[in-house]
Amino acid sequence: MRIFHLSAECYPIAKVGGLADVVGALPKYQNLAGLQAAVVMPFYDRKFTQENEFDTVFQASTLLGTRRLYFEILKEKTDKLGFELYLVKIPGLIDRVEVYQYPDETEQFIAFQIAFLDWISYSQQSPDIIHCHDHHSGLVPFLLQHSKLYTRLANTPTVLTIHNGQYHGSFGWDKLFYLPEIDLSKTGLLDWGGAINPLASAVKCCWRYTTVSPTYLRELSISSNGLEYLFYLEGAKGQGIINGIDTDVWDPNKDPMIPNKFSIKQITKGKQANKEALCSRFDLSPDKPLISFIGRLVGEKGADLLPAAMEESFNEHPGGFNFLVLGAGEKDTETELLELKAFYPEQCNVFIGYDEALAHLIYAGSDFLLMPSRVEPCGLNQLYAMRYGTLPMVRSTGGLIDTVIDFGDEGGYGIRYNHASVEDICHAVTRALSLYGNTKHTQFLCKLMMALDFSWDRSAKEYIDLYKSLNPTL
Ligand code: ADP
Repeated sequence: MRIFHLSAECYPIAKVGGLADVVGALPKYQNLAGLQAAVVMPFYDRKFTQENEFDTVFQASTLLGTRRLYFEILKEKTDKLGFELYLVKIPGLIDRVEVYQYPDETEQFIAFQIAFLDWISYSQQSPDIIHCHDHHSGLVPFLLQHSKLYTRLANTPTVLTIHNGQYHGSFGWDKLFYLPEIDLSKTGLLDWGGAINPLASAVKCCWRYTTVSPTYLRELSISSNGLEYLFYLEGAKGQGIINGIDTDVWDPNKDPMIPNKFSIKQITKGKQANKEALCSRFDLSPDKPLISFIGRLVGEKGADLLPAAMEESFNEHPGGFNFLVLGAGEKDTETELLELKAFYPEQCNVFIGYDEALAHLIYAGSDFLLMPSRVEPCGLNQLYAMRYGTLPMVRSTGGLIDTVIDFGDEGGYGIRYNHASVEDICHAVTRALSLYGNTKHTQFLCKLMMALDFSWDRSAKEYIDLYKSLNPTL
């Protein structure tokens, strides 16, 4: 069974968030299960592309409106990631450093999709499934069915996975001419709210869509930035499949990014040694409980609540715990967090930026990981935290509901709270500190979490069953 995964991100080539982790792991596990899964993504001028060798497997030109674009498809030579990796390179448009936020992002992702379709169509490839991830490849299901350029592939089953339903990639109808010849009687399938909406179009035109957790599937028809009614209408096509984690990359016993490796047996010593390394780097006392936050500093993650919640908690528990942040995002939140650090220098430190190795050390060296998310489609941070024996403190939403059970409930191990509010975060901090005071109970919970299985094996199989249901001959 030959699968093409289409994505804007893939670890370790280019990562902004969880999308990269999933696309960097799922195909690997699908291949181990006997599939032929490949990843196709835009070319980025980054470490991975600079340090690895590629073959040019296809070259052609295509049209983006009236602009002729020359493109090539590069294949990584060795398949060292556990899957075939193809990069779409278009000089001057898709050959840059950053993944997002260029002013011509719409043009970039439309061109990426057209180049992919031209390639598989002209090189006579016949994938069994095309698996699109988020809005960046959301026009593919429509184009396959309603552009006469790709008629040969019109019956190829398409799957869409929604990693984040807040972002749709919408653009105005004035850019319709960027799309290759389409059946104009079908343009309604591109529209949502008076604009061309790639995510909405993908939901309408794909054969099946999945979300990265079952709870998030239900939540999309209540809150999805304007697509609620669409998800309500198309609900029968949806399926929630919880993300796994790449247990090769995220293994505290062999992680090259942490100074002290540890297994479940040496959890207390191992975590303490990593905590000391982390605290010494950030001038924090390793003798106090350490609560950390990792992630994009945006409203979705509840990051704007952190400064007030931490200030209140520092006042409520003077000298009682330390707080560490790794993230970047909205400038106001960054500034407020830096002010918090200036005000509580002995209890708080903040690293503004993106640092993969530091994230690993924080998972390994913290006692608690705080996630006051307003929206969390799956959330990977809590899974990494648990794998590294760190207790998650999560708001009850999306995938956090599906993966964390409060320690007060039967079989529980984490801390959950209902609202993304300063009050609920402060209450969670109080519960965390009182739990920390009971060393035996904390150690028991940490061991319990480390033994949980969040590997891809089960979820990869669910995707395979889904593919088979779309193409019974496979
Ligand atoms: P998102 O909504 O951002 O995709 P996820 O929980 O699905 O959230 O995935 C976040 C991923 O990005 C995790 O691997 C996390 O460790 C990583 N991450 C987020 N921010 C940073 C950062 N500033 N530095 C390093 N890694 C980060």
